[in-house]
Amino acid sequence: MKHLKIDNLHVSIGDREILRGLSLDLPTGQVHAIMGPNGSGKSTLAKVIAGHPDYTVTSGDILFDGESILEMEPDERARKGIFLAFQYPSEIPGVTIANFLRAALQARLPEGEELEATEYYAKLYEKMDLLEMPRTFTSRSVNEGFSGGAKKRCELLQMAMLQPTFALLDETDSGLDIDALRIVARGVHEVRKERPTLGIVLITHYQRLLNELRPDVVHVLIDGRIVASGGMEIAERLEASGYDSFRA
Ligand code: ADP
Ligand code: MG
Repeated sequence: MKHLKIDNLHVSIGDREILRGLSLDLPTGQVHAIMGPNGSGKSTLAKVIAGHPDYTVTSGDILFDGESILEMEPDERARKGIFLAFQYPSEIPGVTIANFLRAALQARLPEGEELEATEYYAKLYEKMDLLEMPRTFTSRSVNEGFSGGAKKRCELLQMAMLQPTFALLDETDSGLDIDALRIVARGVHEVRKERPTLGIVLITHYQRLLNELRPDVVHVLIDGRIVASGGMEIAERLEASGYDSFRA
């Protein structure tokens, strides 16, 4: 079984320390929720796992199946099956969704092997239907002029197509109405159905998506550290009494 382990991680941006000794055990096949106030370091954690160059790991380690990934480039981590759905997805003018995903899938094939076009489009359309994305989206530039909800769906479409081992979903539910949220939940369920070993790290402020996805573990992240881990009762306690009850 694959395993992502974050071991006493310290991360800085400039001279400011944001993650201050954070440890997490993330076996595949489980859903782990991370909740925390704004600015506590949730997105930093997600981006550092994906290999974002802005952040400096000053100590600690991130291990994938026992092997450190700290020295790996983002694309190498992606090829290992680590996927990040960004909180604020970038726009890529001039690159259509269809071409973008095709390039991403092609990049993972062994050299000399071509992605088969008919198969690719069949799969793309199947996943778009699942996420209730109109076919016209295939020819639009990635995220350009998309509504918040469409950007989040586009992130999920990438996840559905790339079939990662670990998916980090950074506030994929924020700004979505109930219907869009249900589509997000359905998207995640479908990917898990095809790939029951998928590990999910779900960064969220809301109970609603947790109710749909039933996390195995809920963690509370405050000031760059995990201050509590447990079951759904943690999320319920947060809903009832806020983050203050978790502050030391
Ligand atoms: P969260 O996702 O929990 O709201 P973030 O990880 O986005 O928190 O941010 C944690 C802290 O790090 C915040 O104080 C934020 O201002 C700072 N920070 C994050 N990214 C950057 C960056 N690229 N440059 C400067 N400061 C940053
Ligand atoms: Mg964030």
